[in-house]
Amino acid sequence: MNQIDLTALSLPGVEVHDSGVHGLGAFASQDLPVGTKLGQYAGRRYSAEQAEAVDWDSSLTYLFGLSDGTLIDGADGGNATRHLNHACEPNCEAVEVQRKGRRIVLEVRTIKPVRAGDELFIDYALTVDESEPRTGYPCYCKSAGCRGTLLGPV
Ligand SMILES: [Zn+2]
Repeated sequence: MNQIDLTALSLPGVEVHDSGVHGLGAFASQDLPVGTKLGQYAGRRYSAEQAEAVDWDSSLTYLFGLSDGTLIDGADGGNATRHLNHACEPNCEAVEVQRKGRRIVLEVRTIKPVRAGDELFIDYALTVDESEPRTGYPCYCKSAGCRGTLLGPV
């Protein structure tokens, strides 16, 4: 049986190099049709309780929150999907998938046709507590529908 190594940095169809947008980016190394599964957002998992106990300030960049409160830290054991930058009109999405009796995983897939060499983006749609200011998360993706922030719509 073909077992995919989820901790491997590289994924088929994806290459990582400097991004014009922010730091490193993930790019398509070949044409990718709509619905191409790029891989799972891998990394160390923290339950909601464990996540509460950690001071995250320094490593926010690679954190991904799931609907059940689980956090995945792509900085620790992550793969190429952690290098996807944000865009308000992205060509990829991260979808929670749960198989019966199994934990939720985040599957990253294309939602638009992507050409070889194009940078891959997802909409981070970050959330902050209502008490926190919504400033400090500016977006410069320059798409026509740019919200101006990495935060999700209210
Ligand atoms: Zn934007």
